[in-house]
Amino acid sequence: DRPMALDLKLNQRKIVHGDAGYVLEDVPHLTDYIPDAPNYPNPLQDNPAYSVVKQYFVNTDDTVAQKIVVHKGSPRGTHFRRAGPRQKVYFESDEVHACIVTCGGLCPGLNTVIREIVCGLAHMYGVTKILGIEGGYRGFYARNTISLTPKSVNDIHKRGGTILSTSRGGHDTSKIVDSIQDRGINQVYIIGGDGTQKGASVIFEEIQRRGLKVAVVGIPKTIDNDIAVIDKSFGFDTAVEEAQRAINAAHVEAGSVENGIGVVKLMGRYSGFIAMYATLASRDVDCCLIPESPFYLEGKGGLFEFIEKRLKENGHMVLVVAEGAGQELIAESMRSMNHEDASGNKLLLDVGLWLSQKIKDHFSCKGKMTINLKYIDPTYMIRAVPANASDNVYSTLLAHSALHGAMAGYTGFTVGPVNGRHAYIPFYRVTEARNNVVITDRMWARLLSSTNQPSFLTLKDIESVRNVYSPKYLPPIKEPIYNGLPN
Ligand code: ATP
Ligand code: MG
Repeated sequence: DRPMALDLKLNQRKIVHGDAGYVLEDVPHLTDYIPDAPNYPNPLQDNPAYSVVKQYFVNTDDTVAQKIVVHKGSPRGTHFRRAGPRQKVYFESDEVHACIVTCGGLCPGLNTVIREIVCGLAHMYGVTKILGIEGGYRGFYARNTISLTPKSVNDIHKRGGTILSTSRGGHDTSKIVDSIQDRGINQVYIIGGDGTQKGASVIFEEIQRRGLKVAVVGIPKTIDNDIAVIDKSFGFDTAVEEAQRAINAAHVEAGSVENGIGVVKLMGRYSGFIAMYATLASRDVDCCLIPESPFYLEGKGGLFEFIEKRLKENGHMVLVVAEGAGQELIAESMRSMNHEDASGNKLLLDVGLWLSQKIKDHFSCKGKMTINLKYIDPTYMIRAVPANASDNVYSTLLAHSALHGAMAGYTGFTVGPVNGRHAYIPFYRVTEARNNVVITDRMWARLLSSTNQPSFLTLKDIESVRNVYSPKYLPPIKEPIYNGLPN
């Protein structure tokens, strides 16, 4: 067995456009391995929308530039294929047998994506055979399936969770592809996070190896907004909005007692986007801690000093901490307490509880100050809400991009907006690296000036962070210490 990274690279198609000065990182097409696959005129020509849009079909050669801030000339660097309906399609509508599966943790918007794939395929392309695979990847061979129609999915976007249910593990590639083949499925829509997209990539490779006329499409899902390349992931906006309720509660609690401290833990195992945006949106937060920005507790410029200062100035304070923040600190303090587990990893510790205890210990010791700390963990309450208006619109666009791509014969790709334009992105691009808050970028600086919290960085640290996050460097995906909530 070859390692996954190599397999993923095999599907990499880079086309260098020398004159235009850009590289197109293209996605596979069914005709790559089924050269004589017939094509058909797109039935959308008969759709009323067709007549009103100036140029309804996307030009096959249109690309989307990854970086659009240009110094001189046109956007160079990496481009992706633009998403959207094509003049030619590679499936006849009554030939399509689609299936949809959701894997990994819950995220607001899952049901909207399901709904819009079903309604889009049915209303735009007249597809009637759409199957829901229940319970994640293992549902292909070990669970029930349900038939999905525009009627049966009509109201599901108003509900949280996923009507198809989800799971972790259970990815047996050959059994999954057997099931796809046996059922005569020819379009597979896979909604899930980084693990799911890696799974989708190996399913695509197996399908290609067997020479099947099956399009495999991934719709990236991560509430943390940590998927590389794309502007934003669905559910993120809803999560930031819902987090406001927890922050409000913490603020009310903290403001109602003497020296009140409200601590709110938000999602973000590797990336602090939810914590950062929730803090910027709320204005009630005095300090925001994220995985990308190391911090320390004791001494000058440390967190305890800042808390004491805020309490003296203001009588109360609110602290937001992302679940992946401060992992090294936790590991260190666990080591000194001899609490390492047998294999030295996976310390089941919740950063919110840990930090709350540390703050309590600090202020109670030496009778420093009497504080009143309330800790709120809204994780599951946030994940379970239905998508808000903006995520509903966004999820609709994702679903449409996905199905137009599959109908046009593209396969082995994920969809998402790059600089505001939807594009088809090769799987390896979204699985090989993660999107992080770059603490030397403007957004984190805005947060620091909005909360007035310490940066916890020395000049030397800033230099080293600048080097680490230089544009050429993609941060490696490494497992942080697991901190409590299984997601
Ligand atoms: P979340 O955002 O919740 O972490 P995820 O998609 O990363 O979502 P996982 O539980 O890691 O969630 O993976 C979902 C599914 O993908 C599981 O069924 C798992 O077996 C499968 N999977 C994960 N990694 C791989 C891989 N490298 N190859 C094949 N399948 C994988
Ligand atoms: Mg994951």
